[in-house]
Amino acid sequence: MKEKKELLLANLRNIPDFPIPGVQFKDVTTLFKNPECLQLLSDMMYEMYKDKGITKVVGIESRGFIMGPILATRLNAGFVPIRKPGKLPADTIEESYSKEYGTDSVQMHKDALTEEDVVLLHDDLLATGGTMVAACKLVEKLNPKKVYVNFIIELSDLKGKELFDKDVDVESILVI
Ligand code: AMP
Repeated sequence: MKEKKELLLANLRNIPDFPIPGVQFKDVTTLFKNPECLQLLSDMMYEMYKDKGITKVVGIESRGFIMGPILATRLNAGFVPIRKPGKLPADTIEESYSKEYGTDSVQMHKDALTEEDVVLLHDDLLATGGTMVAACKLVEKLNPKKVYVNFIIELSDLKGKELFDKDVDVESILVI
């Protein structure tokens, strides 16, 4: 397991001062372009969730749209997108959240989930947690049976994990 994580870390590209000075951007595209890393991510995530009875993987725009559907096919689950406002064509539900400057919102189709679903929410990276906590609240509006949350990377210094309710299971492949 340690070797696998080291391989992933060695292939993750760090971009200093992107998109603004002071932020070290974790570029997951270098993991996705490496066939061994892409397969490893798929296998590791599948192992984490294969026994949880997941029926829908919900991915957050846009980097949650890459591993999300890959994982959904492995788990024999459906895939549901959470998108920025104005992108989804049918009736939506919405949740707003505060950002450093101003607010932002996420939307999902209101018929995307049922009360019978067991949901795995996925995004590439947990930073402050604002985006995923809003996504979680959005999903919970449709009362699924259970919600799991997964990231490829958690930036532990930012303590985003502490924002989640204790009954939400939050796991990341790499905690750095
Ligand atoms: P947050 O709401 O602060 O947890 O931010 C999470 C979202 O912003 C995710 O969709 C990430 O893709 C992106 N993000 C935030 N910080 C970084 C970073 N240092 N490197 C890469 N992506 C980031």
